[in-house]
Amino acid sequence: MFIDSHCHINFPGLGEQQDALLARMADNAVTHALCVSVNLEDFPQVLATAENHPNVYASVGVHPDHEDTQEPSVAQLVELAAHPKIVAIGETGLDYFRLTGDLEWQRERFRTHIRAARQSGKPLIIHTRESSEDTLRIMAEEGADQVGGVMHCFTESLAVAERAIEMGFYISFSGIVTFKNAVALKHVAQSISLEHMLIETDSPYLAPVPYRGKTNQPAYVKHVAEEIARLRNIDVAEVGAATSANFFRLFKAAA
Ligand SMILES: [Zn+2]
Ligand SMILES: [Zn+2]
Repeated sequence: MFIDSHCHINFPGLGEQQDALLARMADNAVTHALCVSVNLEDFPQVLATAENHPNVYASVGVHPDHEDTQEPSVAQLVELAAHPKIVAIGETGLDYFRLTGDLEWQRERFRTHIRAARQSGKPLIIHTRESSEDTLRIMAEEGADQVGGVMHCFTESLAVAERAIEMGFYISFSGIVTFKNAVALKHVAQSISLEHMLIETDSPYLAPVPYRGKTNQPAYVKHVAEEIARLRNIDVAEVGAATSANFFRLFKAAA
């Protein structure tokens, strides 16, 4: 079995065909998915997705790339996270690749999410792009280790992975690990323990090989697991079992 720990199946192009996506998951032994929130405006859709499907969970948070959007408060995130299908706070973090200029608002928003996670006791889903030093520094300053979480769609160095693991975070691999030129990332996937690993699609983006460039969907997470198994020279079932157990341990979700 496999679990897609990070997808956006409420986004246009996927939201209209959720029943078909769930059927494809079942055909490919993908048992569960986590539908991740990126802003408060679309949160009702994200929650409805989880409410409509017993094997779909959801999160609440505002993505660091969304600049002109409703700014969340700690109290608001804590209140929305109280719903039983909301298993995490995020996605949150820092992105110095997509946006430039004075990004103090991004760092403040990230701190808000960490404080909400600590209050609600739910783990964090962290997005970091060309910002790993600041991301790790703010995680340490705000006590993110007290709730833990996941570094999603990981593309950083082994040193960054190890520091995140020390703070109680899991490392989640997306379709990027299947790309031929992702040499350094393949090395990370070979080096860290299976006990600290999750797999994801980040659908509709980043479809793995052999679907690279096409619209991604949760069923394709199997190809991420297959690549990790190939890199580590182990059976794909072992990757599926470990990453699924990690998912339930981290998100305290009921199987
Ligand atoms: Zn992300
Ligand atoms: Zn995402």
